[in-house]
Amino acid sequence: MQFTVDNFFAPIRATTQNRLAALQRDTAGEETPVYNALAAGGGPTREAANMLARTAESPEGRAQMLNEADKLDGVDPKLATLFRELAKRGAPKFGISEGMRSLDRQKQMVAQGKSQTMNSRHLHGNAVDIHLLGPDGKPDWTFDRYRDFYENHVNPLAQEMGVPITWGGNWKTLKDGVHFQLG
Ligand SMILES: [Zn+2]
Repeated sequence: MQFTVDNFFAPIRATTQNRLAALQRDTAGEETPVYNALAAGGGPTREAANMLARTAESPEGRAQMLNEADKLDGVDPKLATLFRELAKRGAPKFGISEGMRSLDRQKQMVAQGKSQTMNSRHLHGNAVDIHLLGPDGKPDWTFDRYRDFYENHVNPLAQEMGVPITWGGNWKTLKDGVHFQLG
């Protein structure tokens, strides 16, 4: 098999997915052997397990947090915390589309014209793409809603937390309304 970053991480990713799936099936929450095993394991899986345990009251909530936790794996903890806080503080409903990005995927995106740089902040876990949800629960791509989300939710919380955030929608060339990065 050819060596690529994706191939290298595939077994690790599969293991994490299996563990998370086992966790999702386990409805008993924090006190279970599965949770304890995960929590003892450390790393992103431990983080996911902790988040999941905190939202154990409903299966839907658990499933949603599981999904978000997975997407925030590898993302800088300050950035991940900011977006988790936003979700808790009654910001408009949103989902995480992408956090950490592999080198192969970045190459693909540049080839497709979806990104203009091989220095994407996603490669180092310093950026997050989100999708705001409309009243029907489907992604809403209205640019002005992302501006409002940045100005009235992300930026105030970022200032409160002392974590400077740049919004891709303020860029001059390729405006990237879904993109938020550190710095
Ligand atoms: Zn992005």
